[in-house]
Amino acid sequence: MRVAVVGSGVLGAAVADELVRRGLSVVVCTAEESRPPVTDVAFGWLNSHGSAAEPPSGARDRDELARSLGALRDATATPPLRGVITWNGAVSWASTAAATARFAERSGPGVAAVEAEALRRILPGLRVPPPVVAYASDEGMVEPDALRRGFLARARAGGATVVAARVDRIRARRAGGYELRGTGEELVVDRIVLACGTGLPALAEQLDENIEVPGVPAARFTFSAPELRLDRVVSTPDFEIRPSARHGFVGAEDVVPGETETATRARVGESLSAVREAFGLPREPVLGDVTVGLRPIPAGNGVLCVPLASAPGVVALAAHPGVTLAALLALRAAEQLAGPQ
Ligand SMILES: Cc1cc2nc3c(=O)[nH]c(=O)nc-3n(C[C@H](O)[C@H](O)[C@H](O)COP(=O)(O)OP(=O)(O)OC[C@H]3O[C@@H](n4cnc5c(N)ncnc54)[C@H](O)[C@@H]3O)c2cc1C
Repeated sequence: MRVAVVGSGVLGAAVADELVRRGLSVVVCTAEESRPPVTDVAFGWLNSHGSAAEPPSGARDRDELARSLGALRDATATPPLRGVITWNGAVSWASTAAATARFAERSGPGVAAVEAEALRRILPGLRVPPPVVAYASDEGMVEPDALRRGFLARARAGGATVVAARVDRIRARRAGGYELRGTGEELVVDRIVLACGTGLPALAEQLDENIEVPGVPAARFTFSAPELRLDRVVSTPDFEIRPSARHGFVGAEDVVPGETETATRARVGESLSAVREAFGLPREPVLGDVTVGLRPIPAGNGVLCVPLASAPGVVALAAHPGVTLAALLALRAAEQLAGPQ
């Protein structure tokens, strides 16, 4: 059975790896030059519980997010992905101690309410530690592009072909299977996984499916701060940051749709001042780049992993938070496509 995976963001890469592992013949089509993967500018928090600093998101399926960390551990247990994730846990707090404690309690066994003395071991260096923080010890962080490239490399090593081609047209063939056309050579395949983020609706429409995957903006910024000692994700009402082997540190910032770049950068500047204040740094962290990415967030609960009713053998795959969910959804999509193992 020949499968085309359209898209090589973290979801397409993970599903290609899983399909190859199951012995299928896989070709990955990717339009990276014209549509760079959002994955490469993600923050990289493998977050199953959310953050005490953010309002609870009822839309997220917590069990699914918790299972996703297990699937990521399994998927990254062997080369070339071994060691790509740092499983150091994450610390978050809300604007009041009561709200932080409530968050920890609501989150269940994976999150502990940690008080000042124990906090000094987990997060040394805070100038004035909050009275209580929420510590999710099972969570991790990753350079998202390294994760996606690792999945792709393993898929390739297992026999997958990766072609730099945008797919513009998909057509069901009378004889069975599908024909894909675009900037590359015409492809004929038996099955398809549409894992092309915000590009998914345009292709699904050609198969008579109306799917909404709006792009919701968020910014990732990089910075250096030689005096900052930090080895895990920290999320607070004033900043969300983590260390990064490649960039020094990275942070995430919300973006109000339609706002100017200057407005986003101003909020990033406020985040950095808050970091300096919280850790008592002798000088302001130095900002590197600020990149806005459009997160593909399917309408509904943010997770789409379904066979298309109108097109047998085609699976649509898009999700937020996609880096966290990649390994779990890859297993599910592979099952939908090729049946249980
Ligand atoms: C600032 C920021 C912070 C984030 N932080 C986190 C986080 O901490 N944790 C987390 O889990 N998630 C986070 N996310 C969300 C995460 O980045 C996305 O959920 C995930 O990367 C989506 O992956 P994807 O593979 O669906 O899409 P993408 O990475 O966008 O990949 C889509 C692929 O499809 C290709 N493509 C598109 N159209 C076509 C076509 N017609 N033909 C061929 N190829 C096509 C593109 O070239 C690309 O390769 C963050 C996002 C942003 C922007």
